[in-house]
Amino acid sequence: MYDALIIGGGITGLATAYFLHKKGQKVLLVEKEARVGGWIRSEKKEGFLIEYGPRALRPAPLTLSLIEELGLTDQIVWASSQLHKRYIYLEKGLIRITPWLFIKHSLPLLRELFLKPVDRPEETIASFSLRHFGPWITNNIMDPLTLGIYGGSIESLSLDRTFPLLKKLEREKGSILRGMQLPKKSTLFSFIEGMQTLTDRLAQVLEGSIRVNSTETPEAKRVISTAKAEMTYLSMTVVTLGYSKRYKQFPGFGFLVPSHRGLSLKGCLFQDEGRLFSFMMEPLAEEAAFRIALEAVQEILGIDEKPILRDYFLAKEAIPQYTIGLGHLPPVGVNACISQALSYAEN
Ligand SMILES: Cc1cc2nc3c(=O)[nH]c(=O)nc-3n(C[C@H](O)[C@H](O)[C@H](O)COP(=O)(O)OP(=O)(O)OC[C@H]3O[C@@H](n4cnc5c(N)ncnc54)[C@H](O)[C@@H]3O)c2cc1C
Repeated sequence: MYDALIIGGGITGLATAYFLHKKGQKVLLVEKEARVGGWIRSEKKEGFLIEYGPRALRPAPLTLSLIEELGLTDQIVWASSQLHKRYIYLEKGLIRITPWLFIKHSLPLLRELFLKPVDRPEETIASFSLRHFGPWITNNIMDPLTLGIYGGSIESLSLDRTFPLLKKLEREKGSILRGMQLPKKSTLFSFIEGMQTLTDRLAQVLEGSIRVNSTETPEAKRVISTAKAEMTYLSMTVVTLGYSKRYKQFPGFGFLVPSHRGLSLKGCLFQDEGRLFSFMMEPLAEEAAFRIALEAVQEILGIDEKPILRDYFLAKEAIPQYTIGLGHLPPVGVNACISQALSYAEN
């Protein structure tokens, strides 16, 4: 008889099992696949480190203390200071997102500065953004940002679940512009050997309490399921291209593509100091996906060299869609999963 049976060996299941194990509970974690880690998977190919899930995290206190407890602090790598630079792909090419871009489209923003604090019922990202920022910023910044993070549409996703900080600012300050403090530097981190370092170490600590290739449910006082929730999940294709030279014409995090451009390509992440580019797009077969990525490299980034690494990944049903009315479902994102795990373990 186990104190707790945990279903699913992604970061939520592993962290839940870890927190319970730390409290002296007898736990068993069952994972249906051959490996634990869930969406967190890092692999080395042709000398490049490829992340198939999350690439970097913001330094949330609980995550950092977990990392310290696991003895992984010396494995952390902080992202380059250039990473706060992000671009949008408009008709005229890549445009850097700067405060100036906001000011240029600022007519509705002047009014925004005087908005009073208000606690509104749950609403879509589009309805919030139009009220605060007007149509240009909604369609050219909020829309691609939402596509890049949540894969879904600003017309259907809930602001409360996807950008809770904006909701909080509206409730407490009224104006987002008055309340928001823009970070001067990006603070993101990963691990020398990739994000999987975290889930591998949790699995190591829990050795003997994990069964892979298993969906069995032995007797336990409590069962905690971290498998999929009853909601829609979107799929996406990620093509990664690696180069022998470094291309630094666009330093930064990457670019996003607004949906009004009508392209299959949704965005691109720059990695490995300009040698590795990951293109996110709608679900596509391998050949079509490579064609789009190779065209983007040439036309958008101006790179003519042949890539030395070509990698294709179809992430099936990967991204949960938090539409209106799903406030009861667990959150997305590694930091949020770890806090969820702690609250499962404590309650
Ligand atoms: C491409 C991509 C990029 C991302 N980028 C970021 C990022 O940059 N930052 C960030 O914070 N988050 C990011 N995320 C989100 C983050 O990866 C997830 O929120 C998090 O990994 C989810 O962890 P989880 O344990 O809840 O679920 P999962 O990782 O899905 O794990 C659930 C596990 O349960 C197993 N399972 C399912 N059913 C059963 C069953 N019946 N029996 C046993 N086992 C079962 C599955 O095989 C799986 O291993 C990204 C996600 C994706 C897909």
